[in-house]
Amino acid sequence: MPSRTVLPAGVSSTSFARALGELREVVGAAYVLADRDELAPYEKIMIPAAEDDYEPSGAILPASVEHVQGVLAVCSKYKVPLWPISTGRNFGYGSAAPATRGQLILDLKRMDRILEVDPVLCTALVEPGVTYQQLQDHLKEHNSALWLDFPGDGPLVGPVGNTLERGTGSTPYADHLAHACGMEVVLADGRVLRTGMGSLPGSASWQVFKYGYGPYLDGLFTQSNFGIVTKLGLWLMPAPAAYRTLLVRYWDDQGLAAAVETARPLRLSGTIPNPCRLSNATLMLTEVMRRAELFQGSGPVPNDAIFAAARQHGIAPWNLTFSLYGTLEQIGPSLDIVTRAFESSGGEIVSDYHDGSQSNELNLSSFGLLNWVGGGGLAWLAPVSPARGGDAIRQRDIARTVLAMHGMDYLAVPTVCGRDLHHLTALVFDYGDLQARQRAKDCLRDLAAAFTDNGYGLHRAGIGLMDQVARSYGAIRRDVNRALKRALDPNGILAPGKSGIHR
Ligand SMILES: Cc1cc2nc3c(=O)[nH]c(=O)nc-3n(C[C@H](O)[C@H](O)[C@H](O)COP(=O)(O)OP(=O)(O)OC[C@H]3O[C@@H](n4cnc5c(N)ncnc54)[C@H](O)[C@@H]3O)c2cc1C
Repeated sequence: MPSRTVLPAGVSSTSFARALGELREVVGAAYVLADRDELAPYEKIMIPAAEDDYEPSGAILPASVEHVQGVLAVCSKYKVPLWPISTGRNFGYGSAAPATRGQLILDLKRMDRILEVDPVLCTALVEPGVTYQQLQDHLKEHNSALWLDFPGDGPLVGPVGNTLERGTGSTPYADHLAHACGMEVVLADGRVLRTGMGSLPGSASWQVFKYGYGPYLDGLFTQSNFGIVTKLGLWLMPAPAAYRTLLVRYWDDQGLAAAVETARPLRLSGTIPNPCRLSNATLMLTEVMRRAELFQGSGPVPNDAIFAAARQHGIAPWNLTFSLYGTLEQIGPSLDIVTRAFESSGGEIVSDYHDGSQSNELNLSSFGLLNWVGGGGLAWLAPVSPARGGDAIRQRDIARTVLAMHGMDYLAVPTVCGRDLHHLTALVFDYGDLQARQRAKDCLRDLAAAFTDNGYGLHRAGIGLMDQVARSYGAIRRDVNRALKRALDPNGILAPGKSGIHR
């Protein structure tokens, strides 16, 4: 047995040692990690929480679907829980760590084949370990005229993990689940399900038509613990002939409402094809300065100081970005329409702005927000509201009030996706400073509660918040989730606690 073993709940040390022995036979001894040193990469949670509460028992790295089936057989026999990860970099939500202490990480990074890219139908089929960078390199090597849509930390992370979390990007393909087509899922009992058209023998349409026949199942395997996804189909965007990224600056803090009211109809009519992101001044300032250069006092940096420093760098209280895509003939008239609309709403247009994430350019620049305070602590919060100006202002005020109570700054990117607005908020703190971490932890809990109490539910949650957010959606929703869990995973082997779903 390895030193200082973290045993899964209810599993004896003898049973656990036997399980590890059998798992070594399945995947090879080198791919069963149980020493604390080897497990360190899985324990860096980044979120405000106590690492001990999320310590894994070990990690298993299968290389094939057959390995995954073999691992499930052993874990079912010994009732050892498994926490699947794809690239395992769910930064700001718990990274690779499990929702409860003592799970075995099922690290799928060795399953990293790009199985197919169809340049005509603009689809791909990938395994969980594939990163966006790897897929991008593959497309470039093959001179492909296809674009990827990726999250802010794109190069490091992958489409399977991000899509299963219902993550988002910045181009017209920003809703990643909406642009996924067909899954292969290993169920807890080892059977392999292909969703959509994939169950039909000889089907040639797995990656082109989502629904197949009967209930549409794919959503069940996102933000859940009902199966292990081993393949995912993706729709890729044909590279546009041209694009133009615009910045609209609102020099008044109340301009947030006008921006949302103007963006929504342009999104709904399709004039603006991608999400409209409204970065606030503090978030933009993280690109050019550190907090300590601006403010040394206690509590959050005062708004006046933020707005004054921002103005010196050409940053407004609210900075809206979006892009127009197509041929120059298509972009021209749209540009006229959006320019008129935003100018008459009080916005100032910068019509040739650069934002790589809206134009297939992978980079790590969004990590700059961590420099604001340093120390690497981060938690995201994403409450949803109708895309109305009044709701955006209300969410802003809730966030500012609760953050200020805990002495934290308001870093936010309210995003008009369509009819919905996601008030994406980042809590950054010095992870190594235990007091700062505790403050951030309390703040995260209170902020989530304040949003939900006002009817703004969270659409995604990190491991420290999963139970709280699941509770906020009510007993019936939880009962249905539990019924599905019992039907699909009667032994409760898969990711206990994921999205607040327990057996
Ligand atoms: C600077 C910065 C910017 C970011 N920007 C964005 C952004 O723009 N958009 C966004 O969505 N996120 C963003 N994030 C958050 C996060 O890092 C990404 O969403 C990232 O893609 C998730 O990590 P991953 O792809 O490695 O997924 P993983 O960590 O591999 O998976 C995430 C979760 O999905 C489940 N899961 C994974 N694989 C499987 C599987 N095969 N079967 C069953 N369940 C599975 C597990 O519960 C796992 O914990 C950002 C983070 C940072 C630090």
